[in-house]
Amino acid sequence: MFGVPDDEIVDGANTQLQRDRALEQRLDVLLDGDFYPSDQQAFADLLRSIDASTPIETFVRAQSYNILRLAFDEQLGAALAVADEVEQLARNSDNNNAMLEIEVVKAEAHLANGNTEEAVALVPSIITLLPDASNVRVRYHANHLLARVLQANNEFSDALNYLLSAQALIPETDEAGQQRRRQFLNLHLARIQANLGRWQASAETAETAINDASRSGITHHLPELYLVRAYSRQYEQGPSQEIVDAFLEAADIAQAQDHERVLMLAYNNAGAAKLLMNELDDAERYLRQGLAVAKTINNQRESSVTEFNLGYVKVLKGEHDQGIAEMLAAAEVFNSFALKREQAILLTHIARAYEIAERYQEQAATLQKQVQLTAELAEEERDQQISELQIRYEAAEKSFEIKLLEQQAQLQQQQLANQERQQQLFFVAAGSLLVVLLMFAYGYRKTRRLNQLLNEANGELHQQSLHDPLTGLYNRRAIYDRLVSNDHRLQTHQYAVILLDIDHFKTINDTHGHPVGDEVLVEFGRRLKAAIRSNDMAVRWGGEEFLLVLEHIQADQAVQVARKILKDISERAFQTAAGRLEITLSGGLMMVATDANQQPNWDATFKLVDELLYEAKAEGRNRIRYLLPDQPRRSLP
Ligand code: GH3
Ligand code: MG
Ligand code: MG
Repeated sequence: MFGVPDDEIVDGANTQLQRDRALEQRLDVLLDGDFYPSDQQAFADLLRSIDASTPIETFVRAQSYNILRLAFDEQLGAALAVADEVEQLARNSDNNNAMLEIEVVKAEAHLANGNTEEAVALVPSIITLLPDASNVRVRYHANHLLARVLQANNEFSDALNYLLSAQALIPETDEAGQQRRRQFLNLHLARIQANLGRWQASAETAETAINDASRSGITHHLPELYLVRAYSRQYEQGPSQEIVDAFLEAADIAQAQDHERVLMLAYNNAGAAKLLMNELDDAERYLRQGLAVAKTINNQRESSVTEFNLGYVKVLKGEHDQGIAEMLAAAEVFNSFALKREQAILLTHIARAYEIAERYQEQAATLQKQVQLTAELAEEERDQQISELQIRYEAAEKSFEIKLLEQQAQLQQQQLANQERQQQLFFVAAGSLLVVLLMFAYGYRKTRRLNQLLNEANGELHQQSLHDPLTGLYNRRAIYDRLVSNDHRLQTHQYAVILLDIDHFKTINDTHGHPVGDEVLVEFGRRLKAAIRSNDMAVRWGGEEFLLVLEHIQADQAVQVARKILKDISERAFQTAAGRLEITLSGGLMMVATDANQQPNWDATFKLVDELLYEAKAEGRNRIRYLLPDQPRRSLP
């Protein structure tokens, strides 16, 4: 018999004492593929038939379903009270399977209620008990529970490993449920892959599981699988009609199975995709459908996000003030139960809406609020991470002898990681609407989870973002995109290119501090924006350098604009927290013509205005050096 992977045999004589075969079989039948029996009456009958004389493993198993039923019914307190009693009995029995199962179930109960930290605190004891447990059913559960807890805690590679261990155990589990288990694990695998930014792999995993489901007829997790497939495809390919159709397909399946949460998320994501495609009527229609579902299931959080997006649609449709008012009202509801980080993301979009409405003062104020919030977050985030490790450490120490040094090394590593993360926060705050929506789609209720996904998407986001977060002006990438885009290539244009640099800006930072320097930059950007027409572009070119690209403009008009800016900056002091500050600038200006056949060499243009700017500095600052066609270089004023 040696080496046969059958827990009944490996356990030997002990098994007979610790498990009740008849009861186990009744539980198998009752369970029917869920976390706990759905037939409450039959299960209550069974529970009444177990007592202290029931073999401990069977006793713990039955009580575990009782605990899970309570936990999933949001009665966590009652669930944990039962768990404590059961845990005591399990410990007294000294039976590894029983001890492991009760720990796993406690973690599951916490996870079901969004208490990731408490679930994480149970991880060390579960990992310690796991190698000595022989019951395949319990080991399988322990492995996929560990995977889901670690996933919730952003430890995606470890999560993946436990998921794979669970997968390897499937052939040893009872045959009737194997297909269902595979589907469950594949759903989580697809989610972890999405968390890791492996969008293609995630979409493929979901796809395989969907195909398996149609063969086996097991459709338990089908709505979620359709949703995750559409979600990962959107990340991989960007929004398109195909993606919208994929979300609508998920909505159909969800509707058929009465899976309202997925139905709501599918509509909202379809709406978000349309929003990104700038198909505003469709966006509005789907968002409204999502909102209706959110209201019926009383999901206030998702309702407020959707209302926020509907307000944004209005702004884009030109109903600026009404749209902004709706966004602000929705944000207020949302903020009442949102994390600061999520609030910071909404502020980015509110600022964008103000910009579209040309309410620049409010835009600047919003951006400042957002920067402030992000800075606070960086602090809090660090504290939270450390205290969580503390909890984990204490739990581990109580039950097991884990070496102190190991923990300290881990703590240090964590702190290093946090420092890095902090440096990234600034960009994270510039997240796109897409990310906000998809984030909520997965119910990322915990800061760390949200943060992690944002970090994953960070590189991508940074690419996507066309705006400088401090001033709200365009960034370099935006101007390149625009200047080489098709509609500009095919037409005849006359441009003025003006590069401006604040004089002795370093002194402002050194004398009054960086935040005052920031204030000056924001106000400087605002004044530039006010001096140009709405079709012109103002770009934050670098630290205190700004580029203006004015279109369809004659040379003399361009010189006039430059003169006006020069005067406005030097003659009107900047109001800051450090009082009124006198600012001057230096600049370079040149004219550029394009036609259908000939593109200017933009890099050469930028190099030349930079040279003009340098000459202006060398000449004594507070002036703009300009070069017009067929004329020598001159200086303003
Ligand atoms: P000059 O007249 O020759 O241009 O001198 P300057 O001091 O303006 O130029 P310099 O290049 O020596 O210094 C620019 C300073 O701008 C240095 C840098 O710390 C600061 N800076 C860059 N980006 C930011 C920012 O986002 N906020 C603040 N407050 N300061 C910034
Ligand atoms: Mg400079
Ligand atoms: Mg300067």
